[in-house]
Amino acid sequence: MYDIVLMHAPSIYDFRKRVRDYGPVSDVIPSTPIFEMYPIGFVSILSQLVPLGYRVKIENLAVEMLMDKNFDVEKRIKGLESSIFSIDLHWLPHVHGALNIARIVKKYHPESAVMLGGLSSTYYHMEIMRNYDFIDFILLGDTTEPFFPQLIDAFQGGGKLEDVPNLAWRENGRIRINRIEPPERYIDSVRLDYRYLIKQCIRNLSVKSALPYSDWIISPSGMTFIEKGCHHNCVICGGSKFAYEHSYFRKGVSYRSIDNVIDDLLSIQENLGVPAFIIGDVHEAGRKYEEELLKRIKENGIDIPIMFEIFNPAPESFYVNLEKNVSEYTVEISPESSDENVRGFAGRYYNNTGLEKTVEYAKKHGARKMDIFFSIGLSHQTRETVLKDIDYMDKMYDRYGSWVHLFTSPIAPFVDPGSLAFEMNEKFGYRIFARTLNDHYNLLEYSKSWVDSLNYETEWLTRIDIGRLSLEAGYLIAKMKKEKNLPGSNIELIEKFMNSISHDGANPLPRNYIGPIIYEKDELVWSKNIKIKNVNCFFVNLYRGILGLTRK
Ligand code: SF4
Repeated sequence: MYDIVLMHAPSIYDFRKRVRDYGPVSDVIPSTPIFEMYPIGFVSILSQLVPLGYRVKIENLAVEMLMDKNFDVEKRIKGLESSIFSIDLHWLPHVHGALNIARIVKKYHPESAVMLGGLSSTYYHMEIMRNYDFIDFILLGDTTEPFFPQLIDAFQGGGKLEDVPNLAWRENGRIRINRIEPPERYIDSVRLDYRYLIKQCIRNLSVKSALPYSDWIISPSGMTFIEKGCHHNCVICGGSKFAYEHSYFRKGVSYRSIDNVIDDLLSIQENLGVPAFIIGDVHEAGRKYEEELLKRIKENGIDIPIMFEIFNPAPESFYVNLEKNVSEYTVEISPESSDENVRGFAGRYYNNTGLEKTVEYAKKHGARKMDIFFSIGLSHQTRETVLKDIDYMDKMYDRYGSWVHLFTSPIAPFVDPGSLAFEMNEKFGYRIFARTLNDHYNLLEYSKSWVDSLNYETEWLTRIDIGRLSLEAGYLIAKMKKEKNLPGSNIELIEKFMNSISHDGANPLPRNYIGPIIYEKDELVWSKNIKIKNVNCFFVNLYRGILGLTRK
């Protein structure tokens, strides 16, 4: 019997039975189009509860379903016993899977509480509490870890539900929203201690149910973050300053203490031995924060490869610091478009000279590689500007060869609720096709292809344009890379998909393909450098190997 089971649902619950064209919606992230990666919050909730003696289990149902076509979801759910079942609805593309899993959990466990958490469930909490009676609770906001113990205690009779901060619940059919705590106050109560993940795997004799994503066995990584909230207002982003202020109760950016970030990195190194991704712009956190964090990485003997992200081009001093303190590092930046005008309309205000300088500094100061991301589906973006992106990539590849990795991908399937594009769509030239949670559920339920499930189009590109252009761009990039002898995607596969965007079923191939199309997942791997520091690392990586060999 558990106190709480943290469940991650696939994007579309019955994806294994559907005939659907999933498209390149997840080509530039570690997940498949089923979006099987659970939020980092699962590890922080585990780290919050286990030291206090609560019995917690992570159940990544999406990974289990993907990795084993015979995996019986209902049987697994029926066999679990827990006071509370908590399902993440952080990223909206999980709406279909999360609601269906919640319904099944309630069917088999009517006495248990079923709850949701994450930004999307926060955004839609009133609609959920009104219309989905199989969901009992939602913990609202971006930092809810500290409230889990109180919620479990209250549900088990050791307190009152009305005292649990940030809780949406029902009392005698009436929806109640408890007091909302300022998230800024709790930033340092969040820890990511991967030890507890390993312990749960050992105790349950199962790694699969706790895997962050299915390809983790091939290209593993750990994560930490330095901040919550954002200083920027990228137009399509549901994690922007605007979105946090208007939808998620956050008034400003909170930075985690350097001690906590270092502890997380040490935990990744000691328990997993895999590369780590630091979420949040370390340079933007200020000179003092940057210098102290990087210095402490070195002082603490952290030598796993680390990926850094920057929101704006960073100066040379940043790379000098990285070179001095981090044994192997990679940097990523998302200019969105090579067209400075389009980039500005997307909410990023730097020019190509600045971008190229930062790339040059990274190269000069020993970055292992640099990832640069462009998007399709931006305000003021046209076919011509996307083709200009490809010319730009051409020049970058000529200059840097395989050291630089350039990606372009569609904004799919949804622009985020809470983002400027969603909330002020006309101002930014977006047409929005789905407003409510149910609208989004229906988009996934009834669409036959990823193009039909887009919740938007722009004044400049229709849904079909976005679909066609994404594949055309992928095709041109793959061709260009082949000509330059750079590793790239399967051109024939992209061609097949290009021919299948017809919406009339005339060319059903290659539907039901769940995998990368315009990029190979290998292109995302920033390091295969695994450090076996101790027995935990040894067993994690041994099991990874075995799982890779036995993958069904
Ligand atoms: S996409 Fe832009 S707004 Fe969103 S988190 Fe990144 S920098 Fe902030």
